[in-house]
Amino acid sequence: MAETQKKITGASSAALFQIFRDGQARTKAELVELTGLARSTIQLRIDALIELGLLAPLTDAVSTGGRPSAQIALNPTARVVVAVDFGATKVSLAVTDLAGNILARTSSKMLIADGPETCLGWMVRTIRSELAGLKLKEADLIAIGIGLPGPVEHSTGKPSNPPIMPGWDAFNVPGFVNQHLKATVLVDNDVNIMALGEQKFAWPGVENMIFLKASTGIGSGIISSGVLQRGAEGIAGDIGHVQIARGSNVPCRCGNSGCLEAMAAGPALAEKLSLAGAQFKGKPIAALVDVIEATKAGELAAIQAVRQAGRDIGEVLTTCVSVLNPSVIAIGGSLALAGEHLLAGVREVVYSRSMPLATEHLTVAQSRAGVDAGIIGASVIAIDYALSIESIDLMTGAL
Ligand SMILES: [Zn+2]
Repeated sequence: MAETQKKITGASSAALFQIFRDGQARTKAELVELTGLARSTIQLRIDALIELGLLAPLTDAVSTGGRPSAQIALNPTARVVVAVDFGATKVSLAVTDLAGNILARTSSKMLIADGPETCLGWMVRTIRSELAGLKLKEADLIAIGIGLPGPVEHSTGKPSNPPIMPGWDAFNVPGFVNQHLKATVLVDNDVNIMALGEQKFAWPGVENMIFLKASTGIGSGIISSGVLQRGAEGIAGDIGHVQIARGSNVPCRCGNSGCLEAMAAGPALAEKLSLAGAQFKGKPIAALVDVIEATKAGELAAIQAVRQAGRDIGEVLTTCVSVLNPSVIAIGGSLALAGEHLLAGVREVVYSRSMPLATEHLTVAQSRAGVDAGIIGASVIAIDYALSIESIDLMTGAL
């Protein structure tokens, strides 16, 4: 906020617009008081923003019979953004307004391993058809937020040695998309955008939280003091390869041994149950989906394995709690669909091993945004850019 206030001094239209991002309506008199600018300057800037459709006078139908009131507010329908969540085997895409309301959405089976041209080509075609379906022009689209299932160098939007994404390493995602669409492209890894999506959907006032994704891999997204933490190279929160005590000699695909992922991620659980001869509905348990179904159906061996995975994850999260002091840990990803058993294991360790003050107001909960966390989070990064000084300056010609 301090930065916003500073930029308001000598305010351009874009800087003035930042005041409206909290969604509150304001009068010109209030803006004069807030900024110290002359009323004539405010008038000029507001007129420019209203002409672009970014601000609109509130209509107060009750007291004035529909005449415009003196209050002005952000107009969330002025433009749109697109949110895209690529998983290993599926992609979801949504068009939202500037308040994050979903106007259209679609999803498709797609292998991320088919490479960037195939996946992003589908994305470009789908964005065009969805915009056409909404009777919108490409110029109405300001930004595209994309989540990818691997590490992403945040400053460039390029994937960085992603283990399950052949052909994507260092691929210029924004550059490729901008050959076809003009909108600004923002790329982040899927767990980071899920953290933002979970926060927006379920914990809007919470400034310190960890989102943990447990599925075929394990990772986390960290929000600290209200800001998503990406770290120096964009891999902050990548806790899947932290060694756990009982892991000692178990080899991991990363080359080390005893990693959390090698002990508690979906493939590890399926393998362990399979080797023990565990069955579900007369068939061997062979994949993560079997583990989830067997756990939900009350199969004891599967429940025990999932609960132990919760304890293993809890061991690493206990350290995170000491470092970050979050007030919420949200557990998502497909393994969380196994229900309370995973959470029970996490809680058992985190609450018993953390310092009392750190857990006094700590909530450990299942993700509430569920499968939508990624798509909501991708819209959050796109909208955050769309409403920024940089983006509005482009629209107003930096007036
Ligand atoms: Zn590892």
